[in-house]
Amino acid sequence: MPAGLQKTRLISELKTLLPPASVYHEEEDLRPYECDGLSAYRCLPMAVVLPETIEQVQQLMRCCARAQVPVVARGAGTGLSGGALPLENGVLLSLARFRNILEIDPLARSARVQPGVTNLAISAAASGFDLYYAPDPSSQIACSIGGNVAENAGGVHCLKYGLTVHNILQLKVVTVHGELLTIGSEALDSPGYDLLALFTGSEGMLGIIVEITVRLLPKPASARVILAAFDDVTRAATAVGEIIAAGIIPAGLEMMDRLAIRAVEDFVHAGYPLNAEAILLCEVDGTAAEVEEHATSVAQIMDGNGATEVRTARDEAQRLLFWKGRKAAFPAVGRLAPDYYCMDGTIPRRQLPAVLKNISELSAKYGLPVANVFHAGDGNLHPLILYDANRPGELQQAEQCGSEILALCVAVGGTITGEHGVGMEKINQMCFQFNSPELTQFHAVKAAFDEQGLLNPGKAVPTLSRCAEFGAMQVHGGRLPFPDLERF
Ligand SMILES: Cc1cc2nc3c(=O)[nH]c(=O)nc-3n(C[C@H](O)[C@H](O)[C@H](O)COP(=O)(O)OP(=O)(O)OC[C@H]3O[C@@H](n4cnc5c(N)ncnc54)[C@H](O)[C@@H]3O)c2cc1C
Repeated sequence: MPAGLQKTRLISELKTLLPPASVYHEEEDLRPYECDGLSAYRCLPMAVVLPETIEQVQQLMRCCARAQVPVVARGAGTGLSGGALPLENGVLLSLARFRNILEIDPLARSARVQPGVTNLAISAAASGFDLYYAPDPSSQIACSIGGNVAENAGGVHCLKYGLTVHNILQLKVVTVHGELLTIGSEALDSPGYDLLALFTGSEGMLGIIVEITVRLLPKPASARVILAAFDDVTRAATAVGEIIAAGIIPAGLEMMDRLAIRAVEDFVHAGYPLNAEAILLCEVDGTAAEVEEHATSVAQIMDGNGATEVRTARDEAQRLLFWKGRKAAFPAVGRLAPDYYCMDGTIPRRQLPAVLKNISELSAKYGLPVANVFHAGDGNLHPLILYDANRPGELQQAEQCGSEILALCVAVGGTITGEHGVGMEKINQMCFQFNSPELTQFHAVKAAFDEQGLLNPGKAVPTLSRCAEFGAMQVHGGRLPFPDLERF
């Protein structure tokens, strides 16, 4: 059937299933949905639909499955790997109207919420019970909990309290054929395969998440943040490893390098030392006695690694200001150049000094400044590669630089993503993270839920032929990237 006719038929059918005002198909209505946080890639979908009930999601999935039309789910569109990038021949299913907190159970310490609720709204609603939701992506004022589950989002607190996957109990999911599944349970364990873990981080490729039960934690009695400045990035990186080795699990352990510090200071005026090559922000929380003991040990470790300055936030207002700077680091760096490309790789902590050195060499090689601001305690790097898309070839250079950084992460025993997902951005890099039999198993899992490949096709899991093509492009003369690094 010609594409135009297919579109007309689909839209008129969708309008019979949903209120007409919930189906967008004119270009000016589609434009706001053309990209997610990875704005280098844009595409207009055939239609955007904004259902309001689970039944509507079920009907629309059945309709799209019958018509063989692909569906891309979208939460708040803050994803940084192109996971919610629409498809030209597909429907974009926005969960923006699923905005209710359905129940907070202070006894079970859980909350049942709709997927479009923002991450921060959950903690705000639980606050009256002295509870909060621990995973705290820096985008938490905007990103949706459905998007957090689909990306297995992380944040500053995840070092101590775990990623999204460790903080959810149950999901309701609509399958590609419109069936409603309940996976996980409100109890601490559930029998059978762990589908809850499988869906967490599945990037909209296995089903549409329509309800989430999250765990809530008691707010810590006390918290303190220590800021340490270093005149050498390597020393800061070494201090990170030593803090954890000392048996302290901070509630946050973040690093920023010179470029990031200056950008943040200019934007937020958080009081960061401008002459430092790197700063660490280390938060300890717990009882007052625990906090006192850990804060003293952390300060000693910072000193022992040659910190040029160690400062403890004098009060709650300064603690929040230190964190405000960190949380605003991405937009702050965004003011330095017309565009930036945010990478997200994870490495074993002990590799931090060597990898940061390699990243600065890659920055010099490509002639593109790189600002580092990241979850150092988890070894989760976020090199922000600055470029100008208006300069011919610069986007490609930034992508190539990013690809080399990810290859470096894998070479030292790490992964190509820590929390931002694969999406379409890192699909090629999946080829050096996993071998063919492993990718074949991923495809088998996908087929078990979505045999026709209608849910977010072309994202997250590359085809084997794509990998063959990419491999041919990457390995020149049989030489591996970073041949001097030990392989695991
Ligand atoms: C400034 C900034 C800072 C950030 N900091 C962090 C950080 O610290 N930690 C972190 O982890 N991430 C961070 N991110 C990335 C992003 O906010 C997270 O990936 C977030 O989880 C995406 O949520 P979203 O609602 O915007 O999802 P979207 O971008 O809309 O979608 C993301 C993916 O989830 C799928 N999806 C969305 N909703 C559903 C659903 N209901 N059912 C099935 N699939 C769905 C989409 O198809 C897509 O594949 C940051 C982003 C920005 C812009």
